[in-house]
Amino acid sequence: MHRPTLLSHRAIALQPSLTLAISARAKALQQDGRDICSMSAGEPDFNTPDFIVEAAVKALRDGITRYGPAAGDPELRAAIADKLTHGNSHPCTPANVLVTNGGKQAIFNLFQVVLNPGDQVLIPSPYWLSYPEMARLAGAEPVVVPTQAEEGFELDLDALEAAITPSTRLLVINTPGNPTGRVSSQQELQSLAEIVRRHPQLLVMSDEIYEHLLAEGTEHFSFAAIAPDLADRIFVVNGFAKGWAMTGWRLGYLAGDAEVIKATAALQSQSTSNVCSFAQRGALAALQGSMDCVHSMAASYNNRRQQLVQGLQAIDGLTLVPPRGAFYAFPKLPDAVSGSLDFCETALEQEGLALVPGAAFGDDRCIRLSCAVSHETIEDALGRLGRMLAAHR
Ligand code: PLP
Repeated sequence: MHRPTLLSHRAIALQPSLTLAISARAKALQQDGRDICSMSAGEPDFNTPDFIVEAAVKALRDGITRYGPAAGDPELRAAIADKLTHGNSHPCTPANVLVTNGGKQAIFNLFQVVLNPGDQVLIPSPYWLSYPEMARLAGAEPVVVPTQAEEGFELDLDALEAAITPSTRLLVINTPGNPTGRVSSQQELQSLAEIVRRHPQLLVMSDEIYEHLLAEGTEHFSFAAIAPDLADRIFVVNGFAKGWAMTGWRLGYLAGDAEVIKATAALQSQSTSNVCSFAQRGALAALQGSMDCVHSMAASYNNRRQQLVQGLQAIDGLTLVPPRGAFYAFPKLPDAVSGSLDFCETALEQEGLALVPGAAFGDDRCIRLSCAVSHETIEDALGRLGRMLAAHR
């Protein structure tokens, strides 16, 4: 007899993360002895810098092992507020800051406290895959505003504004962007600010988690610094995972209006409580320490990004918008390829090449490759990809 499901409607509607699924399949094939070349990683290939590890070890030894305030360690909140104020020209106090289990929880908590069922969330595509799912988990409707590889993934500002309805509550910005590596110009952010000013019900979430990973000559602009008059409507998401190679530490933050931050802290107090107490001491050391480690990792991604970009540009049939930040490239497949999911499945099964299908990011014509891998792996991947695409000609 058919057993009725135990799952809630919410759980049934939830899409599991496709990037994690691909990594799992690639690992399983590797364990079976297949020679797998993986370009699917979404994380730095460096270890966390020693001085950060030492600070967390010391905290453990010093007995920083108990519950702490749900909103985060006061010293860390103050250090983050200071970083935003002086590093991003975004004046903040500790009351404007929530310490979270990674940037992910910052976004999740924000969506939970500012979105009502029926609200719409504007998300330019290609987008980071968790935004639409998190909007749905908050009962809201994700509304995708597409951008095209052929147009450099430039935002069509008129199309964006035309998509705004009285139900539109939140606009998502992500610069530097995952998966495209696109970095918003100052002018683009100024134009976006003009749009936000014309729609007083609209809040903005600016995900700046890749802010330190920039190609040479590229500058990061923080939306809150561009539009200080909109400060009470802008929520910044950031964290330590990408810049400091701290993905497993689960350390991020949300910054914005104090009343909203207080509500997210209440939500956190009823769900996860404080972020791991001794890990927060590591994050504090990261902010107080020298940025040399971040800059040297960023320089290494730059070398590898360049190698990946040159290699992809040399493959016939791909259209590449050269990424200016983060550690990804997001080339468009030739028109003859039917879809990114089939393409990536074939790449993995036939060539042992793990890629992430663009469909996961709202663009089924593209694939995502990470450059947070060695030069040898990049070269190997380019060879395998070139062979696959030659078969499509
Ligand atoms: N935002 C973007 C654009 C990301 O790519 C990621 C992670 O891949 C996150 C947020 C979440 O990062 P964290 O590991 O801090 O949760």
